Amino acid sequence: MPRRNASDDPVKEDVIAEARRQNTLLKTGALQNAILNSANFSIIATDEKGIIQLFNPGAERMLGYAAAEVVNQINPSDIHDPQEVAARARALSLELATTIAPGFDALAFKASRGIEDVYELTFIRKDGSRFPAIVSITALRDDYDDLIGYLLIGADNSVRKRVEMELHNAMAVAEKANLAKSAFLSSMSHELRTPLNAILGFAQLMEYGSPPPAPSQQRSIGQILKAGWYLLELINEILDLALIESGKLSLSPESVSLAEVMQECETMIEAQALKRDIRVSFPTFDTAYFVKVDRTRLKQALINLLTNAIKYNCVGGTVAVACLVNIPGRIRICVEDSGPGLSREKIAQLFQPFNRLGQETGGPEGTGIGLVTAKRLIELMDGTIGVESTVGKGSVFWIELNLTNERQHVIETAESESTAPVGSQDRGPLRTVLYVEDNPANLMLVEDLITRQPDIQLLSATDGNRGVEIARTSMPDMILMDINLPGISGIQAMKILREDTLTAHIPVVALSGNAMPRDIQKGLEAGFFRYLTKPINVDEFMSTLDATLEFAKDELARTTRTEHV
Ligand code: MN
Repeated sequence: MPRRNASDDPVKEDVIAEARRQNTLLKTGALQNAILNSANFSIIATDEKGIIQLFNPGAERMLGYAAAEVVNQINPSDIHDPQEVAARARALSLELATTIAPGFDALAFKASRGIEDVYELTFIRKDGSRFPAIVSITALRDDYDDLIGYLLIGADNSVRKRVEMELHNAMAVAEKANLAKSAFLSSMSHELRTPLNAILGFAQLMEYGSPPPAPSQQRSIGQILKAGWYLLELINEILDLALIESGKLSLSPESVSLAEVMQECETMIEAQALKRDIRVSFPTFDTAYFVKVDRTRLKQALINLLTNAIKYNCVGGTVAVACLVNIPGRIRICVEDSGPGLSREKIAQLFQPFNRLGQETGGPEGTGIGLVTAKRLIELMDGTIGVESTVGKGSVFWIELNLTNERQHVIETAESESTAPVGSQDRGPLRTVLYVEDNPANLMLVEDLITRQPDIQLLSATDGNRGVEIARTSMPDMILMDINLPGISGIQAMKILREDTLTAHIPVVALSGNAMPRDIQKGLEAGFFRYLTKPINVDEFMSTLDATLEFAKDELARTTRTEHV
């Protein structure tokens, strides 16, 4: 028998539709039941006065009450922390400019006015234990839009709270570790320099000693000094790179004239080039190019490329520096050498620290850190660095930077400090130098150095307070000040002296193992006349001593003149 169409029989059609409706209702009912019985949410419904009418299994599980214990007995504010409810009432009263009593009103007030309300409060279980919860509250209305009650859906928030707390703690730990790392770098710098200071200082003393050392001793001293200065360079490079990698390096970008930077670099590498008989050529600029960079750090990167081009070159070779604008707005500085060149494999390993490309045994000294540091620095200044090389012909290392239209605000005069008159004959009367230093080896070294100057008398103090005292009573012509001192620091001691009208005119020179560029800058800003780093370089030390004493003499003459007027 052929199957008939349903529309052929209206009675049957009604029966089928009714069955479908029943089925849908059953399914909806089952779904509603499942939602209501969910153990993951507490679902609480109240009447319009706030008395609990429905308390689902989720609420029973979370709060530890049986529905029968709470239905028609309590209102939801009874299972919250009363202090939090009171605080919420106060906050709402302020927000809505009305008075809301602490109690169920504080929970339902917003919802009763049709405002969506989700809040975080602490639930209190039957056994008195507590947990953080997020509660969403909605007003329930009948078909005539009359308020018949409230629906509160709550979720346990303790897991999220715990994760938040853990995250917070982890961040605090990381921050602390970062601070510890900085402090470690700074103190390591100091700790490594102190013994090196003794090694290099006393070796220099022997080198310049009288009677002069025999030729074989001279050679040994030369080796000690060479190794010592190399070790110092190594420490500086490692610390500098560590500083950059820890993200602690702060750059001060400014508009910098490329011609000026080139000029300064040329001066700085002249002696090195001469030593290896290498001709270095720099470009002449028709256009004034400006780049937005940290001046000192750009110079550091360029000097590194130039030094490498001189070091890894053949004796009598050439280094050519060129500037090209291939892409508008960007300038490329190329440093081309006539060295042996680099193979593809070597180039791939080039920008890795401690990788000296097989130069480890013999060959020029270096750590391979300089190039890595240069790369990091250039990238921090939004630039790129790269290399092209042909084995047997030489390499071109280049730096690319963004040009800027900004001009320098202040045209700075050449940074090079006026070289002080070294060993001026007419020094006149006996000068007094006060040295504040807690390290006996350093004190001995400076004593030895100053003993050679018959017209200088040395006073010493081993801590800052004693230093200030001696300065006030003896009025020295200048003061040498260590920074890391027991009691007050050298910086504090210097500030005390500068603020005292009696001693304010005495130039204070820092002599410290804290030799990070940031330390030096901070020291000069704080008011030191000069900042010398340990290990002491005898030549530099003596010329600074001369320059400072010369300054003190002029200063004294000036103030005396003023007094006579
Ligand atoms: Mn010290």
